[in-house]
Amino acid sequence: MQPMHLTGLSQAELSDFVASLGEPEYRARQIFSAIQDRRLTSFDAMTDIPKDLRATLVERTGLSTFKLESRYVSIDGTRRYLFKTHDNFPVETVFIPEERRDTICFSSQSGCPLQCTFCLTAQLGLLRNLTAGEIVEQIIFVLNDAYGEGVQTPRGTNLVGMGAGEPFLNFENLMKAIRIINAPAGLHIFPNRITISTAGIVPRIRELATITDRPRLAISLAAPNDELRDELMPINKKWPIEELMSACKEFERSLRPAERFTFEYVMLRGVNDSDSHARQLASLLNRHRLRAKINLIPHNPAEPLPYQPSSTERVESFRKILESKRLHAFVRRPRGRDILAACGQLAARSEIGESPVGLQRSRSIVASHDVAHPRNAS
Ligand code: SF4
Repeated sequence: MQPMHLTGLSQAELSDFVASLGEPEYRARQIFSAIQDRRLTSFDAMTDIPKDLRATLVERTGLSTFKLESRYVSIDGTRRYLFKTHDNFPVETVFIPEERRDTICFSSQSGCPLQCTFCLTAQLGLLRNLTAGEIVEQIIFVLNDAYGEGVQTPRGTNLVGMGAGEPFLNFENLMKAIRIINAPAGLHIFPNRITISTAGIVPRIRELATITDRPRLAISLAAPNDELRDELMPINKKWPIEELMSACKEFERSLRPAERFTFEYVMLRGVNDSDSHARQLASLLNRHRLRAKINLIPHNPAEPLPYQPSSTERVESFRKILESKRLHAFVRRPRGRDILAACGQLAARSEIGESPVGLQRSRSIVASHDVAHPRNAS
């Protein structure tokens, strides 16, 4: 049996556990703060906890359940981490360093049950939902790798739920993880710095709107009409665009004063990137008068996906049409393409350029046993 995973416990749950050991309440606060605020990864380092309690924790609980399989570093500094869960399922997390603030892209599921045709993760199918502890653990690992254990998370660090999986199909565990992260002695990444991206699970968009201290919302749209969206994102057959827009309209009422939500639009050459598609998209969004911005994402090609990215000129022409219709549109710069870390490329590949039979290992891979001085690696 797996030991109790303390990383996934809220402070209240830790209090119950600590009480069951006959320990005072303040020990729960100390342990929670050691795991989340200080991100300590061993009980030995928790020197403010008495030795005999630490020994009990070692015996009955655990802080980490993942094994790091590989750590890849892109020429642009992006890092991709491939973990294996205790029961051997892959989990991927991406760290994107930026000049002003860094971003961590985490996964909510191992694999994904949705069948978006432009995404490699879809090819894995759903392997399983991640627990709240597994969601938090991957973020703690990346923060420690980037900044060092015990060093407080830099102000403004962004967290995006855009890795493998459809977060809203693992809603309960996702929200529990976010509550742990947001707790006063948590990871110091606050709701306005957390964005969750969905393929359009309409009931959960409505539910999210009712939650205080909710994260921001992004919606992967990929097409301006049902016919094309049915093809690219089959979830659209269940919740077509008009239903999605009506949920967005409801969600809009929960937006904070300066907040907008985001539509992600992957740009696939010759498929959804014409001027006519841009005009349809503008008319759709203007008809619903949503406080939204649009992120245009040039497709990140990966074998065996059948698509190519739109050219820079095409993306720019598309963006200009949206701007001319008074919409805020931005082009997202691809990051980590060379290590299969970019949007739509996460498929638990342990070899860069891996085909079904496997190809040569990239020089930019840093194997798990090489992670002694992560800051120097990129
Ligand atoms: S784009 Fe997101 S929702 Fe669609 S298959 Fe990929 S991981 Fe799943």
